[in-house]
Amino acid sequence: MTPFELVEPRTLEEAFSLLDQGDPAIRPIGGGTALMLMMKAQFFQPVRLVSLRWLGEPFRGMRVDGDVFRVGAMTTFSELEHSPQVAWQLPAIVQAMPALANVRVRNVATVGGNLAHADPHLDLPPIWMALDAEVLILGPRGERTSAVADLFAGYYENTLTDGELIAELRAPLRPTWRTTYVKVTTRALHDWPALGLALSLDLQGDHIRDVRVVLSGALEKATRLVATECVMRGAAVSDALMRLAGDAATAEAAIESDNRGSADYKSHLLRVHLARAIRFLASSNHG
Ligand SMILES: Cc1cc2nc3c(=O)[nH]c(=O)nc-3n(C[C@H](O)[C@H](O)[C@H](O)COP(=O)(O)OP(=O)(O)OC[C@H]3O[C@@H](n4cnc5c(N)ncnc54)[C@H](O)[C@@H]3O)c2cc1C
Repeated sequence: MTPFELVEPRTLEEAFSLLDQGDPAIRPIGGGTALMLMMKAQFFQPVRLVSLRWLGEPFRGMRVDGDVFRVGAMTTFSELEHSPQVAWQLPAIVQAMPALANVRVRNVATVGGNLAHADPHLDLPPIWMALDAEVLILGPRGERTSAVADLFAGYYENTLTDGELIAELRAPLRPTWRTTYVKVTTRALHDWPALGLALSLDLQGDHIRDVRVVLSGALEKATRLVATECVMRGAAVSDALMRLAGDAATAEAAIESDNRGSADYKSHLLRVHLARAIRFLASSNHG
């Protein structure tokens, strides 16, 4: 491995001065789990890695603030997994954890690094999208917010520019909504998904007041299926609605074949798992 510099700034200003905006060999590092794999494969050779581990708020901590759940970008997956607050407010995140990588990865991988990596197979981005979450982005020229969906430009491509950092994730608290995530693997449980499906429903009895459907693992980036949502919005949960939603989803999603399944197979998985997810959320709403 080519030698490189690892720096650990204590302030945001110091971090920005160390993150040279024009040099792709200088990058921030969160947990380092994705960066290390890319370095081992000699796909990425850094000159300098700027660690975010000593930055304080808003990069650190989790808290409810009014009707928003705030999660610092340096929060690890294990911290999410074992937080009673997350289990209470955002149960779909905790539900996804046991099948996400392994304990060693979950102990270090961070919320911010996971989003910035923009790998379409990652498990958490579709859930954050279904939860309508946004991120606070800090840069040398100021701050902005972005819907999580707008962070992804394409295959492993994010929309961060000019040395910007993801500082915090903000998920609105939506008490009447229920969310679930289905990770469909065709090899081992912890493998990358052949298809990831996040579904959020705002149900009144069997009536779907509002809905989010997000597909990952089968497209070049995690994508909201808005035409499918239109078919479902305002409808009653029924076998006929599940068939219509499946038709809409498979027509809308330009699914690609890869080494975890052909496009036809993944379309079939989408149809089956969308119906199951609707049924699951509808039945848990009655419980
Ligand atoms: C063995 C293994 C198995 C895995 N299995 C799964 C799985 O089943 N499901 C799944 O979803 N994921 C899985 N992962 C992927 C894992 O989720 C990602 O590697 C992880 O989310 C990246 O987070 P990180 O903090 O380690 O990022 P890093 O490796 O530190 O960084 C990733 C990218 O983000 C940039 N970056 C980091 N932090 C920030 C920030 N705050 N702002 C802006 N840019 C930033 C870095 O410069 C880099 O480009 C697996 C990883 C490994 C190693």
